[in-house]
Amino acid sequence: MGNVTLENAGHEKAIMNYLSLENTDREIAVLTIDVPGVAVNSVSSRLLDEVATVLDSIEKDPAIKGLVIISGKTDNFVVGADLDEVRTLKDRESARAYIGKGNACLNRIEDLAVPVVCAIHGHCLGGGLEIPLVCDYRMASDSTGTVLGLPEVKVGLFPAGGGTQRLPRLIGIQEALSVMLTGKQIRAKQAKKIGLVDELVSPHGIKEAAIARALTLAGNGKKAPKKTSFIGSLYNRTFFKKYVPYDKLPDPTNMADLQRFALESNPVGRKILFDQARKRVMKQTQGLYPAPLAIIDSVEYGFTHGVRTGIEADIDRFAELAITPEAEAFVNLFFAMNGRKKNPMADKAAPVNKLVVLGAGLMGHGIAGTSLAACDTVLLKDISVEACANGMREIYKGLDKRFKSGALNRFEHDAMYGKLVTAVDYSRLAGTDLVIEAAFEDLDLKRKILAEVEAATDAHTIFASNTSSLPISEIARYAVRPENVIGMHYFSPVHSMPLLEIITAEKTSERALASALDFGIRQGKTCIVVKDGPAFYTTRILHVMLNEVMLMVEEGVDVKAIDTAMKRFGYPVGPVQLIDEVGFDLGFHVVEAMGKAFSDRGFVPSGGFRRLHDAGYLGKKNGKGFYDYSAKKKAGGRPVNATALKILRVSGKSGMKEDEIRHRAGLMMVNEAIRCLEEHIIASPEDGDLGAVLGLRFPPTTGGPFRYVDRTGADKVHGILEQLRAKYGDRFTPAALLTDTAKRHLTFY
Ligand code: NAD
Repeated sequence: MGNVTLENAGHEKAIMNYLSLENTDREIAVLTIDVPGVAVNSVSSRLLDEVATVLDSIEKDPAIKGLVIISGKTDNFVVGADLDEVRTLKDRESARAYIGKGNACLNRIEDLAVPVVCAIHGHCLGGGLEIPLVCDYRMASDSTGTVLGLPEVKVGLFPAGGGTQRLPRLIGIQEALSVMLTGKQIRAKQAKKIGLVDELVSPHGIKEAAIARALTLAGNGKKAPKKTSFIGSLYNRTFFKKYVPYDKLPDPTNMADLQRFALESNPVGRKILFDQARKRVMKQTQGLYPAPLAIIDSVEYGFTHGVRTGIEADIDRFAELAITPEAEAFVNLFFAMNGRKKNPMADKAAPVNKLVVLGAGLMGHGIAGTSLAACDTVLLKDISVEACANGMREIYKGLDKRFKSGALNRFEHDAMYGKLVTAVDYSRLAGTDLVIEAAFEDLDLKRKILAEVEAATDAHTIFASNTSSLPISEIARYAVRPENVIGMHYFSPVHSMPLLEIITAEKTSERALASALDFGIRQGKTCIVVKDGPAFYTTRILHVMLNEVMLMVEEGVDVKAIDTAMKRFGYPVGPVQLIDEVGFDLGFHVVEAMGKAFSDRGFVPSGGFRRLHDAGYLGKKNGKGFYDYSAKKKAGGRPVNATALKILRVSGKSGMKEDEIRHRAGLMMVNEAIRCLEEHIIASPEDGDLGAVLGLRFPPTTGGPFRYVDRTGADKVHGILEQLRAKYGDRFTPAALLTDTAKRHLTFY
């Protein structure tokens, strides 16, 4: 869109870059948002300045009888605030001014004397959804690409453009809290069902339909369609209407709806709701995430003081929150992930039209299912028909779930499933562009599979292993075409874990790397590229931590105390529980391999993994771990399995200070991440942070191990490691790069 001159009778001309205002012959003005030079619309101060100018015109123009707000983009309405600008907010005053300006515009739209219809097609998120919330009527396209949501919590912020005030009044407090606390995306069909949008229309005629609707509303002489039921009209007259979700009156024939209303429409019921929500958040986040608590506080305050007073308070709340280190950490992660959406080696990448996944187990079917949108054919191969059928069933279940949620329509669902074929031999591998191997974690088996694949495929076929720990150069040792061999390490569950760790061995070609990157990005993954080595990056730093945890358990430290200490640091799952989930089989293989590789620097592999493995302990997968999986889960979590402790000959009752547990386990991982940077296993601190947060769930509020050191101070981290070294031995020796960084008072970023 080029520059548009806004010219209304008697008003000054204004040059508009982001907006255009068109007067239709039916006295309905259409305001089109189209931020120039970018694929998606976002809310920035510049956009708001133009909105203010347009509102000046509309407010003064008696010829305008209604307004339609629409996007000029093909697949998005507005995707949220311009985070580039949010990132520049370094003090309370600038944060207040920024959010205050946004709210002033939104309030003015809400106060317009003419009806306003919002036409939504594509992504409508965050600040983008706060626009329709001030409109009188929300019309959305029924496309599977139309999604609505308030995802601010995911970047450590909250919907401070009136979202916390208006959404609960529109769809009910409980539904609104669920939307805002999870940041989830709501498909068009669901949005209609919960009352977030008033009407669904075809994306092709949405503008005309919105104009027609605005005309009808204007013709009725009513700003908004009012509730006409008897309960509604009675209710609208009551004095407390201002404080309750007036747009979501109960359906008298629906018991659940009546219960919701009974709970939400009185202060006592609401107090119970907010208290419960706070308890849940505290349990899930240990109070380490300020944003979800701010959301609850804000909704509660708004219901006591009214919408506009609530918004005023939100402006202060936002100014506090936007400058917290937690919000900064989340915004940094967002930018780091965004920066990975383009392949820097795109010119060297070969297209992947035909993919073969070897192994239809947990990882294999996950990888195959996630690849359906990224290529033309996916061939899933296992050694038996039953294993293939099981893989197909799991993929079908995943597609069905997406169909039911509205993420796929029936055609897309069937087309994707139609790309999938299975095989139990190598007869149909000719013409394959990429093979991803996800068979058992066994070096000889992987070498054998690679030889079979090389015999059945062409010179251009790339072979990627999803091994979590076996060196790629070892797998490729006898390869005919080692330049085609690479590691593509996915995380479980594949469809939801965002990270792909790509491992290059010495002989891996640029073409193989570029193609793996391309494919990973097309699957929607955030990719980091790491060098081959014992357990690469993520498995390595995870296992030095798990090894330290096992050493603590072997010293008799209380298992639950270890898990609690690490959860309080921000891990969603305690490390002892994680040992059970990873499994003692993988644990002892990795730890012993690292014991051999890192013995020169005092790494002490714990014998506990092997002892438990030899006693038949595989962890959660065979129900034998540190926790008792046969017992029912109680409020305090699962009970500890005393037999596992007996095998290790410990009571599990010794105490240890929480800080010491945290430092021993947590800094062990941080120090190892720094060693990986020093050894060029990872290329940058950003790769290290993305790998740890997205692959291992390192507490995201810290920003990752490198940002954690920067924030804590390299000298302080160095000092604690030195103390641990004096007490526990050389395995705590600070990485040389950390020592240097501390000495020179530098930071990693
Ligand atoms: P799994 O046991 O669920 O599945 C392995 C599958 O491979 C089985 O269905 C088996 O029948 C099949 N298989 C064995 N030999 C085969 C062959 N010659 N050709 C084709 N298929 C064959 O195992 P998984 O958890 O899916 O792990 C697979 C790989 O992924 C392992 O290397 C593992 O280390 C790695 N990995 C696992 C996880 C995880 O969380 N489970 C995470 C990352 C990486």
